[in-house]
Amino acid sequence: MAIVCGQNSALATEHLWLKRAYQEPIVRAGGLPLLIGYLPDALCQQAVTQSDAVLLTGGEDVDPLRYGAYPQRGLGSVDPKRDATELAVVRAALAQGKPLLAICRGIQVLNVALGGTLYQDLPRERPGTLLHSQTAPRWAASHPVSIAPESLLARLIGADPYPVNSFHHQSCRSLGEGLVVTATAPDGVVEAIELPGRPVLGVQWHPEDMAADDPRAQALFDGWVAGFSR
Ligand code: MN
Repeated sequence: MAIVCGQNSALATEHLWLKRAYQEPIVRAGGLPLLIGYLPDALCQQAVTQSDAVLLTGGEDVDPLRYGAYPQRGLGSVDPKRDATELAVVRAALAQGKPLLAICRGIQVLNVALGGTLYQDLPRERPGTLLHSQTAPRWAASHPVSIAPESLLARLIGADPYPVNSFHHQSCRSLGEGLVVTATAPDGVVEAIELPGRPVLGVQWHPEDMAADDPRAQALFDGWVAGFSR
């Protein structure tokens, strides 16, 4: 089984790397994680064709120009080349019906790929929300999410309130075409989105950092490698 993962580019565009935290739950789930770099559209499509499933990792902010907005104070670093690769990968995954798990930045790329918009900086644009940039360790939960009962997410981990970690200062604003919200934080911030009837799940939290100790976090990877039970 071959799986394309998104890439992290913490050091500008000089290095492409994947945190081990992503690799480990994929391997536990029986998947073979393969990292792709920045590729032209045709190679993105080819990479998706040759993979059984696609995962987008966390990272920097999506360029606001991608959703028809201009940079505002509070926007973090952006990487237009990474945006280009990941938007092409998402479009290919959707077109080919490949299971797509989109984590943190990934949920935002997924939303933008379908025409949605983002809050560029929650503390500035939605004052009064919870602290979504937690100070606790990455494996620790900091706020719960409520889960829509009739959702892919509920099928994977149940619909009970679920405590998740939180390392984001942006979130989905208007939703892209066909997307529905399937988890929200207590302040109403969007924490999961799906395309009903399709093997597509975006989560705003970081299940990879909780998966070693939290069976529900691991279950997202297990379900994704299993094709979200196609
Ligand atoms: Mn959060």
